[in-house]
Amino acid sequence: MDFDAIFRSQLDTLREEGNYRIFADMERRCGAFPKADNHCEAGRREVTVWCSNDYLGMGQHPKVVNAMIEAVRAHGTGAGGTRNISGNTVQHRMLEAELADLHGKEAALLFTSGYVSNWAALGTLGSRIPGAVILSDALNHASMIEGIRHARCDKAIWKHNDVEDLDRKLAAWGPDRAKIVAFESVYSMDGDIAPIAEIVEVAEKHGAMTYIDEVHAVGMYGPRGGGVAEELGLMDRITLIEGTLGKAFGCMGGYITGSAPLVDFVRSFASGFIFSTALPPAVAAAATASIRHLKESGFERARQKRQVAKLRASLDRAGIPHLPNPSHIIPVMIKDPVKCREISNILMDRFGIYVQPINYPTVPKGTERLRITPGPLHSDADIDHLVGALAELWKHCALSRAVA
Ligand SMILES: *Cc1c(COP(=O)(O)O)cnc(C)c1O
Repeated sequence: MDFDAIFRSQLDTLREEGNYRIFADMERRCGAFPKADNHCEAGRREVTVWCSNDYLGMGQHPKVVNAMIEAVRAHGTGAGGTRNISGNTVQHRMLEAELADLHGKEAALLFTSGYVSNWAALGTLGSRIPGAVILSDALNHASMIEGIRHARCDKAIWKHNDVEDLDRKLAAWGPDRAKIVAFESVYSMDGDIAPIAEIVEVAEKHGAMTYIDEVHAVGMYGPRGGGVAEELGLMDRITLIEGTLGKAFGCMGGYITGSAPLVDFVRSFASGFIFSTALPPAVAAAATASIRHLKESGFERARQKRQVAKLRASLDRAGIPHLPNPSHIIPVMIKDPVKCREISNILMDRFGIYVQPINYPTVPKGTERLRITPGPLHSDADIDHLVGALAELWKHCALSRAVA
């Protein structure tokens, strides 16, 4: 069997479609964010990163960096085991307490990533709750979809953000089934925000539990960075809040929060939790420092909002089309995978701007885009430079401008 031939032929198909993924070879420099070095054939060059999920630059914040360094010096590198077998440390316990407090819940549980937290929690709830049905928003993240698949329970997919459709689908299962409504707050590719209050209302009407992924909101929304549910005063009406430590908190890891029995249930039954090495204690210490800082400081959130508004206004003036939404994510639609990659290459090579093209399967075919994420550390000059570069490309590439 020529296995490599099988691999090559499928990779060739990806290339022909323009969907083959190429890594940018980056070197982050602590303290310089959003500037970073890009290693290329010509050597290395400084570029401005516009597509990072380290949304607030916390991955280079002195408090977070120092917490990690100090914890490594004090406690070493790895955890040395699963949480159950010698990998549990004081740092994990403190971080879980911090997270439970952040979301106003009784308990929290850490995982090695947000992906694993969704996969493990939804998989466990769906498979272990007798008669469970998971009602999943049509645009839920791959990690939730995989968790639901893994659960092998009944499921229904409701139209994205469509509360009436959710209501109908909940009603269809009747009052005796254990229903779980799974959705996100900020959807990462379109940057739209779910109608959380209405979803919670409908779920409560049907006695369903609610499972929200706040991965793109924690640290950035709400007075203490508890997410959109905190901003709307709805955290106590949501059964389970899931988040990541890898995006706005600038570290790594994922978590769920909820009632003590719920969290203990997942802790006790989830294979993706039990059989995997715990996060390094230093990562837990750094994440704790990051969360604590963002609970107290509104500066990063305010400055991010300002720079997002500034970039949007500037794109509007230049006639560059972007999806309107209430979040910090600015999708500039290209609608063609080859063009999307070309524009991204030119931005990097000629303008020192790093925006990764977002193609299928991350977004549907025909909706390829540049996903721009301004943060508090992007300067006004960075914004002017980005919009100037895009305007020049639009002039040359005959891309349709927004109708004013
Ligand atoms: C990134 C992401 C995850 C996974 O989180 P990681 O910590 O990166 O594994 C989960 N849900 C959504 C919506 C995401 O965008």
